[in-house]
Amino acid sequence: MTVHPGFTGEDQPKASIFNQCIRCGFCLPTCPTYLETMTETSGPRGRIGLVKAVAEERIDLLSPGFVEQMSQCLDCRACEAVCPSGVRYGQLVETARTQIQRARAGSETGMQRAVRGFVLRTLFAHLDVMRAAAAVLRFAQQTGLTALAGVAGMGRQAKLAPKIPGAFFVPRGQRVEAKRPAGLAFLHAGCIMQVAFARVHEATMRMLVRSGLSTIVPSDQGCCGAIAIHAGDMALGREFAKRNIVAFERSGADVYVVNAAGCGSALKEYAELFDGDAEWAQRAAAFSSRVRDVTEVLDAMPLGEPSRPIDARVTYQEPCHLVHAQRVSAAPRRLLQSIPGLRLIEMNESAVCCGSAGVYNLTQPEMASRLQRRKVENVTRTGATIVATANPGCAMQVAAGLHDAGYDARVAHIVELLDEAYG
Ligand code: SF4
Ligand code: SF4
Repeated sequence: MTVHPGFTGEDQPKASIFNQCIRCGFCLPTCPTYLETMTETSGPRGRIGLVKAVAEERIDLLSPGFVEQMSQCLDCRACEAVCPSGVRYGQLVETARTQIQRARAGSETGMQRAVRGFVLRTLFAHLDVMRAAAAVLRFAQQTGLTALAGVAGMGRQAKLAPKIPGAFFVPRGQRVEAKRPAGLAFLHAGCIMQVAFARVHEATMRMLVRSGLSTIVPSDQGCCGAIAIHAGDMALGREFAKRNIVAFERSGADVYVVNAAGCGSALKEYAELFDGDAEWAQRAAAFSSRVRDVTEVLDAMPLGEPSRPIDARVTYQEPCHLVHAQRVSAAPRRLLQSIPGLRLIEMNESAVCCGSAGVYNLTQPEMASRLQRRKVENVTRTGATIVATANPGCAMQVAAGLHDAGYDARVAHIVELLDEAYG
């Protein structure tokens, strides 16, 4: 007898999705956790079977095996991209996590509830709080206080934290005009990107304007909501989504540009998030249809020839949410190959997750470390001196792994390299 029988209420994994699985196993060799463990339950087919077993009340929603597998999955969507049956696996795992989270809410300790509430409902909901927290981290990094993190048992977290630069990129309604504007781009400033990767946003704005798009950074935008959705709080994800939909509608922009793959995939899926919502479904679908990754935009615009060579061996780390969720793979490579002097050396398994996956490297440190080492081995075999990527999580995870391995390579966003090449 199950104590938490089946799925209940809103946001249930849909039988129409999990019953689509024909158990062919094509997805297995693409799944990072299956590659590491070679066990059926740690692969997509096994996890879909578990979701079905909970739906049919054969196992408990909070059984340790089910909770473990829903947590161990990276939600990297590699399985979804190769599935011949079109199983929308991301939907399954995200709704399953929502169900687990809701069932567990009553048994959380006060401290667990407070930490969760602070991270999701304060830090990511109020970006001024995130900027204040980042300023404290910057102070700790500059004064060497982060060394004390090891004493407090938080050495790993301190190592993975990005180096916080002197200035943040705060959306304040900035606007830069292109010479002969072909359209108006809305730049998504995000959350972590604002405080840790201001230089990437600056490079993105310069490249968009160079490409012929006037660019704005409206102040009423916010976090995309991916962090809440992946953590099983779909309701909060919808709150975040509404803010961005309204901000884009008000802006009058033609395209919503994102330079973080994880955010881009969440923003492109707002339509699904509001599926069945009479008030928001249409607005969300209209919004999502205008979202583009920056590499898609630049690849389609007339940029001309870059003037400054980058004489380096470069390898490309494909962010899962760009290649698998958004199916954008050729555009980033074309852009890199357009840079004179740059030699693109493909690594093995460039599309296998590096173990970052949002906060996965904090919640599943052992598997995250295994995948990080796997990625670092594949990078080092290329002899690359630059690792290009298009997502902040990958950049931090790969940089920390290379540092640990003593391998000297720069990790850069594609737009930074383009910005340098275009002078
Ligand atoms: S590839 Fe698709 S249909 Fe085949 S086992 Fe995997 S999820 Fe099921
Ligand atoms: S989302 Fe990624 S980790 Fe999860 S089952 Fe699919 S391939 Fe494996």
